[in-house]
Amino acid sequence: MDGRYDPIESPDETTVFPYHDLTPPTTADVARARKVVRQHLPTTPLVRSETLSSDLDAEVYLKREDTLPTGAFKVRGGVNLVSSLSAEFREAGLITASSGNHGQSIAWAGREFGVPVTIGVPAEANDGKVAAMERLGAEVIRHGPDYDAARERIEQLASERGARYVHSGNEPKLVAGVGTAGLEVVDELPEVDRVFCPVGGGTSAAGYCLTVGKLTDADVVGVQSEAAPAMHRAWTDGSLEPHDRMETTAEGVATRVPFALTMDLLGDGLADFRLVSEADIRDGVARLFEDERIVMEGACATAVAAAVEARAEIAGETVVIPVSGRNIDLAKLDRMLEASEYSA
Ligand SMILES: *Cc1c(COP(=O)(O)O)cnc(C)c1O
Repeated sequence: MDGRYDPIESPDETTVFPYHDLTPPTTADVARARKVVRQHLPTTPLVRSETLSSDLDAEVYLKREDTLPTGAFKVRGGVNLVSSLSAEFREAGLITASSGNHGQSIAWAGREFGVPVTIGVPAEANDGKVAAMERLGAEVIRHGPDYDAARERIEQLASERGARYVHSGNEPKLVAGVGTAGLEVVDELPEVDRVFCPVGGGTSAAGYCLTVGKLTDADVVGVQSEAAPAMHRAWTDGSLEPHDRMETTAEGVATRVPFALTMDLLGDGLADFRLVSEADIRDGVARLFEDERIVMEGACATAVAAAVEARAEIAGETVVIPVSGRNIDLAKLDRMLEASEYSA
C-alpha cells in the first residue's frame, strides 16, 4: 500500500478514489464527448417500431444501441473516458469490476486506445462473458462469491498497481459519453415527447436528461424492476443507503447501491421514475422478440414494459425507447420466452 487507497469522503458506499470527481457533467460536456465518440463509433439507428406504434397508438421509436460494438450503449462512455486519460494512467492501465456490459465497454475502449485493462468478476462468472472480455484483450480476475467481493479485491489491486479504477457510475466522462445517444435523438427526432429509459447505475438516464431533457420539451422517465428498486428509492426519498433487495433477473439494472453522481443528475432531471414487475419484463423481452425479432436484455425490457403500462397516457405521443443491450444469455432468453404470457 502506498497511500493511494486512503478512502475519500463520499456520500455513497462505493466511491473510494480521489480522482472520482462527483461534479456532474453538463450538456456542453456531452457535446464535447460527441466529437470524440463519433470518431470511434457509428451513429446508431433510430427506427420506428410498427408493432409498438400500432399497439400503443403512439409513434414509438427504438434507439438501436444494440448495434454498437459490444452490443450495448455503455461503450460510448468507455470511449469518452479512455480517450481523455492522463499519460500516467494510460501506462498504468485501467481496472474495473463487472461481469457485464460495463466490463466489455472498458475492454473495448482500452483496446481501441492501446491501454491495458484488468476486469474483476465473481468466481462463478458466466464463461461466455469472460471469454468476450478476454477476446477484447482484457485480463480477467475471478474473485469471491459476488460482485461486491470482486469489486473490493479490484479496488485493492488498483491501489497496489497505481492503475485507474473505473467506477461504473460516478465518472463524469462515462456519463457525458453515454449522453451522446441523446444528442443523436435530438438531431433526428426533436419532436420527441417522452423517453422511457432503464436505470441501473443511472448513467444512461442521466445522459438523456442532459440532452433530450434539456434541449427538447420531452420528459425523461426512468424505469427499474420492482425487485431491485435501489435507485428508485434514492430518487423518491433522497437516501443513498444500499438496498437489501436485489432479486431481478435483469442484470443490467440490478443495482444494490445508489450512486451519488448519477442521482444528482436524475434528481431534477427525471420527470418520473416507474417500477415494473419481473413478469412485465419477461413479456417485454418476448414482445420484441416475437414481433420485431429483436433480441434484448431484460434490463432494456423494463422500458418497453413501462411504455406498455403507460399506454393510455402516451396515446398520440412520440416516444423513444433505447434498445440498451442485446447480451442476454441464450438459456435465460429461452426461459423468459417460455414463461412469458405475451402473444402477438
Ligand atoms: C447498464 C445497462 C443498463 C442500465 O444503464 P445504467 O446507465 O447503468 O443506468 C440498461 N440496459 C443495459 C443493457 C445495460 O447494460
